[in-house]
Amino acid sequence: MNEAKKFFIDAFHHLGSNRGIPAMDVRFYPYAGLRHTIRLRSGHVYVRLSDICKDCPPEAMRALAFVLVARLLGKKVPAVHERTYRDYSLTPEVMRLSDIARRRRGRKMISSAQGTTYDLEKMFSKINRRYFDSSLEKPTITWSQRKTRSILGHHDRVYGTITISKSLDSPQVPEWFVEFILYHEMLHIKHAARMINGRRYYHTAAFRLDERRFAKFEDAQRWLEQVARQRRVPRARAA
Ligand SMILES: [Zn+2]
Repeated sequence: MNEAKKFFIDAFHHLGSNRGIPAMDVRFYPYAGLRHTIRLRSGHVYVRLSDICKDCPPEAMRALAFVLVARLLGKKVPAVHERTYRDYSLTPEVMRLSDIARRRRGRKMISSAQGTTYDLEKMFSKINRRYFDSSLEKPTITWSQRKTRSILGHHDRVYGTITISKSLDSPQVPEWFVEFILYHEMLHIKHAARMINGRRYYHTAAFRLDERRFAKFEDAQRWLEQVARQRRVPRARAA
């Protein structure tokens, strides 16, 4: 990722008129199609690039960085960069990948971390401080689009995303329970899966031990059982 970030730093140098280089978080994201976002929040710049661009040529990445930074700063996009990026986006290979992404992901497109009741990004920072000495790098965190009932959380290592079931974004669900589900997914960032006899184990003994460090672990287990009973699913769980 640092490869791409360097182009954004460069773009701020050129377009930012001595305003200095802001702290930046640049990462790829499995958008449904060729799209990118850039946001400024509390002096911090968040860039999410379509993962289609993961293997794009450096000059296209550089052009894209200038296009996005110019957009953020409300400046005119330098024509040369606009053209370079457009040419790249219209290559057959990119259009093909973009189509595939749209078809595959269009339906489960991810909303955001800000729910109607709980803000997952805020929650992440709190748990990261409390249990991980703020050592975990922030993944992309979102509420699921649909209210999945049996799987309450999911960590995708390939895309570096955590998805939490929308069914938990409700005042009827205690905050500590949502925190527990998120904590579980965050442990997947910390604990790599182990291969044993050709099988992949995600919930290792060390993982389970760490899980018990959660302040309301017992309450969370009871709540999980209750959720399973109410919904008549064999077992509600965090994956
Ligand atoms: Zn798990």
